[in-house]
Amino acid sequence: MKLFRASLLSLSLLLSSGGFAQQPAAAGSDQTSARLAGEVLVNGRALEYVQNLSDKFGGRLSGSAAYRRSAEWAAEQFRAAGVKDVRLEPFPLESTWSRGLARARMIAPQERPLHLESLGWAPSTPAGGVRGDVYILTDLSRDFIKRESDKIKGRVVMLDLSALAKDGYAAFSKLVAAPQFLKDAGATAAVIGSSDANNVLNAFNLNWGARISPLPLAQLGMEDSKLIQRLLAQGTTVTVEFAYENGTGGAAEDNNVVAEIRGRERPDEWVIIGAHLDSWDYGTGAQDNGTGCAMVLEAARAIAALGTPPRRSIRFALWGGEEQGLLGSAAYVRAHARELKDCVAALNTDNGAGHPRGWKFEGREDVQAAMTPISKSLLAGIGGDGLSPELSFDTDHGHFFLAGIPSLDLWVDMEHYDEIHHKPSDTVDKIVAHNLSAGAAVVAVTAHALAERPGRIAPQLKHDAVGDLLKKANLEEFLKGVGVWK
Ligand SMILES: [Zn+2]
Repeated sequence: MKLFRASLLSLSLLLSSGGFAQQPAAAGSDQTSARLAGEVLVNGRALEYVQNLSDKFGGRLSGSAAYRRSAEWAAEQFRAAGVKDVRLEPFPLESTWSRGLARARMIAPQERPLHLESLGWAPSTPAGGVRGDVYILTDLSRDFIKRESDKIKGRVVMLDLSALAKDGYAAFSKLVAAPQFLKDAGATAAVIGSSDANNVLNAFNLNWGARISPLPLAQLGMEDSKLIQRLLAQGTTVTVEFAYENGTGGAAEDNNVVAEIRGRERPDEWVIIGAHLDSWDYGTGAQDNGTGCAMVLEAARAIAALGTPPRRSIRFALWGGEEQGLLGSAAYVRAHARELKDCVAALNTDNGAGHPRGWKFEGREDVQAAMTPISKSLLAGIGGDGLSPELSFDTDHGHFFLAGIPSLDLWVDMEHYDEIHHKPSDTVDKIVAHNLSAGAAVVAVTAHALAERPGRIAPQLKHDAVGDLLKKANLEEFLKGVGVWK
């Protein structure tokens, strides 16, 4: 049936070539890549996808109605692009959360409003709010917090993160553990100063796994928190008050959206290209990660439009729960454990829509060696032929990497990314259309080339070999701390 469809398509190509004795380009050749890139750059719909996703559904918190509706919309887009096999694959969320309106002020030594919002997945403040003197905590260890419990009891604790900076990734597991120690020591709430000027806040949660935190946690504007720190350094008592009522719910299920173009020769082997569909709620999740979703949708549309499927299957995945700890992609890797041996490569795009620079090969020199000729021959013209060794565990290629799958994360120019990342300014107006199209072209061409290539780019690594790479990148302690690596 597939052969029949393919030959019909070849025939129509011959007929549409204007009578020249022109052969259709062999699949996987530079001509196929050129057709694919041309389709994305000339007929591309990436900007339209991200505009619909961000402007019509808004922020897409995991477990929210906006997320669920956007997943249904995305499934429709894959079908409209001609990809027939589209599934919603469920994954569990430990709890759901929505943000309530916050109010905050300093009471002493002066009366002034404060820029403060709840952290994600934090509980509401008690009725009437939290009121207390501020205590600055510089050491997050359980022992230190226990020793200081007389000073901490009944206070609002401000976490000083500057002391943690030297710990890199490992700092995150310490931060995640601290709220329980603070609760045990009798703190009423904890606040963290923002690292962005102009009292701009930056949404995040202080846990891993959509768990409701043990005590109210809030983020305070940078200038507000520096004022408090200066006053405390002079020995002045600072009293603050804040209140918010968040919505929290128990265990729930969300769906990943997974579409597949079956391979024409080795349909059981697959390349996966993914991006997370969930987002934070201050902005509309345009570049974190509407643009990644748009690149995946556009790659699916353009590859389907070629008419001839590649040698291997390509799966197009839009993940949920990424912002709470890569939950959707982790569940997918667990649910598909038995077919991971046939996963040839896992591609991911989640670094915004700056101009593409190439791919991060996640510390694997064998992947770099195999990618170099592909990058040089197919991606240089788009400006996306760079290869970066950076190994990170901050987005959805992570669990594929841990399973030993050759993983590639789209590497883009991130010069302006921090200006919008997790902020109210993450909206469609910041997207540069031609950079987004170029990113979508790199994604489509690479996914197709890897699915078409006669051999695999690299083997699936054994657990110990993955462990060695993690050690080299100082990631092991962090991953053990959040419970995803043994
Ligand atoms: Zn992201």
